Amino acid sequence: MLKLYCWGGVSEQGRSCFLLGDGNGFILMDCGVKRTFTAFKAGEYPQWDVNLLTRIDATFLSHAHEDHCGALPVLTKLGIQRPIYTHHLVVPEVTKSCSAWLQAVDSMGHKKPYEMEHVLSLPLHPVDFGVKIKIKDCEICFNPSGHVPGSAWFDIMWGDKRIIYTGDWSTSSLFISPPEFSGHADAVVLDGAYGAAVIRQDSIYEQLLEAITATVSKGGSVLLPVPRIGRSQEILILLSSALKVNVPIYVEAPILAGLRGFLRDPERSGIKCPAQITNICDNEKIKEFCRISDIPQKGEAVILATDAMGSSGATKELIDRLGISENNSIIFTGFLYEGTKGDQVLKGAVDGIKARVTRFTWKVHPDWKDIEDMLRKIKGDPIVVITHVAREKGDELAHMLRQKGVRAIVPRIGEIIDLSSA
Ligand SMILES: [Zn+2]
Repeated sequence: MLKLYCWGGVSEQGRSCFLLGDGNGFILMDCGVKRTFTAFKAGEYPQWDVNLLTRIDATFLSHAHEDHCGALPVLTKLGIQRPIYTHHLVVPEVTKSCSAWLQAVDSMGHKKPYEMEHVLSLPLHPVDFGVKIKIKDCEICFNPSGHVPGSAWFDIMWGDKRIIYTGDWSTSSLFISPPEFSGHADAVVLDGAYGAAVIRQDSIYEQLLEAITATVSKGGSVLLPVPRIGRSQEILILLSSALKVNVPIYVEAPILAGLRGFLRDPERSGIKCPAQITNICDNEKIKEFCRISDIPQKGEAVILATDAMGSSGATKELIDRLGISENNSIIFTGFLYEGTKGDQVLKGAVDGIKARVTRFTWKVHPDWKDIEDMLRKIKGDPIVVITHVAREKGDELAHMLRQKGVRAIVPRIGEIIDLSSA
């Protein structure tokens, strides 16, 4: 019996982790951590069954955001050394993502979930898009999902069942080819991060450009806390092409390094506008910085720095530096986990922050229209397992899909879904 075990990332956002297996073979899909901090605990990990976990044949990783990969080194720590397949662009990101999480936990004074040696000994195997990997009765093909460079959706054939595991996906990227879903499917494990919301990316672009222009025109600076890969480069592409006001854009070195990396083999990496990326790398307005002391104290600037949550890295210090002046702005563009510095700043719970603090949702997941469009292209009557979204929003999405005749479900953590009769 083919079953999907929902170990994390259902009825919640964070710690995505799914086991797929028929008793003979088992594969793990993603293995993330949920970035939450309390006085006693850092992070929430998948609720796995260790007996089953030790039986996995391989792990398939959709991308290297910590909510998808941050718990992988726990497997190494447990002595599980089965291959981890992921796109070649994602391979170097896994180490960075896991070590950043480790550092964040450590800096908050919490017990580390694993050591650096467990991160460095992850058995990562690079995969290209379009390549099929066979594990017992299962065949998996990686396809570009449009979320971040190298991010993949998995096309899985298990016996006569076809399962689509979307991973995080998006049709709105400025530089990555969008995913193409088609054909008959028996089950779709769907990223429904925005629930049933309709998000117009164009209006987000306008709002962001307006907010930056307003601050800079008054002599203030803007801090954009961003992840190292993906949204940071998207925003950079937007700013370099559409920001009319003349202001230096300071970009933390790893963000630019990531951008240059995409130029090495754009086609193989699913990058759709290499010429535009080359222009950004040569643009005089764009200034690379390694330490925040590289950014002049005086004069207006737009700063793209990591991490996106403000919990560690340059952002953490820059929030304090820029936050003290009401002329400045801090603009968040993504999800903020509760208890992170970014979350606290946005809620006005950090003393001494006078800067204007706002948040826009930069679209990196599918909205209602994308999901509707995607499911229209898929034939058969698949079970649609809604993931990557809090219970309430997931229920709303499921309700709307059911009204259209879709067999949508929102599992709870630990739920096991029988796919053999799907
Ligand atoms: Zn992601």
